[in-house]
Amino acid sequence: MNKEIVIIGAGFAGMWAALSAARLAKLNQAENISISVIAPVSELRVRPRLYEENVSAMIAPLMPVFNTMDVQFIAGSVSNIDSDSQTIKYLDENQLPQFKQYDRLVLASGSNLRTDLVNGIDQYAFNLDQIDTAAMLEQHLKSLAKKPASQSRNTVIVCGGGFTGIEMATELPARLKAMFSEGEDINVIVVERNEQIGSNYSPELQAVIKQASDELGITWMLNTQIEQITDEGLTLSTGERILADTVIWTAGVQANALTNLFQKSQGPQGRLNVESSLKVNGYENVFATGDVAYAKTDDKGNHALMTCQHAILMGKFAGHNVAASLLDLEPLPYKQENYVTCLDLGSWGAVYTEGWDQVVKSVKDEAKKIKVSITNELIYPPAPEYNVIMEQADPLAPWV
Ligand SMILES: Cc1cc2nc3c(=O)[nH]c(=O)nc-3n(C[C@H](O)[C@H](O)[C@H](O)COP(=O)(O)OP(=O)(O)OC[C@H]3O[C@@H](n4cnc5c(N)ncnc54)[C@H](O)[C@@H]3O)c2cc1C
Repeated sequence: MNKEIVIIGAGFAGMWAALSAARLAKLNQAENISISVIAPVSELRVRPRLYEENVSAMIAPLMPVFNTMDVQFIAGSVSNIDSDSQTIKYLDENQLPQFKQYDRLVLASGSNLRTDLVNGIDQYAFNLDQIDTAAMLEQHLKSLAKKPASQSRNTVIVCGGGFTGIEMATELPARLKAMFSEGEDINVIVVERNEQIGSNYSPELQAVIKQASDELGITWMLNTQIEQITDEGLTLSTGERILADTVIWTAGVQANALTNLFQKSQGPQGRLNVESSLKVNGYENVFATGDVAYAKTDDKGNHALMTCQHAILMGKFAGHNVAASLLDLEPLPYKQENYVTCLDLGSWGAVYTEGWDQVVKSVKDEAKKIKVSITNELIYPPAPEYNVIMEQADPLAPWV
């Protein structure tokens, strides 16, 4: 009898889950297993590049790799999952409700920025969380050039100094300088509630971020709480107002809302607690992968972060294990001991670290080359060739 694997999401995790499941099915000549990916569009949206210019180009088509591996694609947005009847409900391209049954489900619907943390984010702040919102920010930044110079026009406030905030802030001085007249003052301000720059990072990495920020002329307002964002800028908890035409919100990411349908296994940031096979705790026949899954990476207490570095490998394990469960094969326990951090620091360069203790291995141009090779090549879909995909979709193939 035909068995259906349905994967929700066509991001890094969903794409690799589909290819890896197809690989195992093909290795076992299991022609009765069909694999479908359901997502709004059949393209990989390269979220790690959304702080760069030309964001509309940060996509890669997925049909070539899916066709190569006989993966079906369904255009749609899932609105409900009934794990008892093993049925999903989705709206198709024409916004019409449809239903699909599954034998095995892989939830790979990613994450999104929280915009409920401070009043005014939704109305007045830009963000670079998804391709459409990043495109709005890019268009707005370009429109500043047509406005008369003023303190407000020349001030950009980045709310939150985490990974995304740092990459966005360090990118801005060069972009703004290229748009405005020579000699104009440019103020890029990072507002951060923690007491240190890059407080979640190793002291060595913090020092590099500080050096790059200083040399790029970026102001960090540390230990600072934002009270409200308005059409004129923002208000701090002290009552101080900062006028700016551009406020960019980057703080607080949560797992996609479909995880709320699995209340028994809720973990940090709304992610789902999973077993080492990436099966969701407490739910039969449901796997989770990528940003929606809270998985142990090793026996030292580390967990997968919401990064595509983790999503790609978790996708391969989830795909392998979901197919293995239909083939009565033993699952492969997900493990990802290696961890690197590569942070773009704009025209200053970049910084590259290795290990969970973030030992700095290279900086400036040398690190920038690594960053470019990761974000412009390594994380993109594989070549749509059968042998290439069969090799790369293996969860045990070398990765990072
Ligand atoms: C600005 C920015 C910079 C980043 N920089 C880095 C970096 O340098 N390095 C790094 O490793 N990571 C980085 N990340 C994080 C990385 O992008 C994510 O961890 C990664 O995209 C997670 O992959 P995923 O497949 O789990 O989810 P996503 O890539 O978010 O994909 C989710 C998929 O699910 C689909 N989907 C969502 N809801 C539904 C629904 N209801 N029905 C059907 N489909 C649905 C989406 O359309 C999409 O196809 C960055 C993220 C951002 C926003």
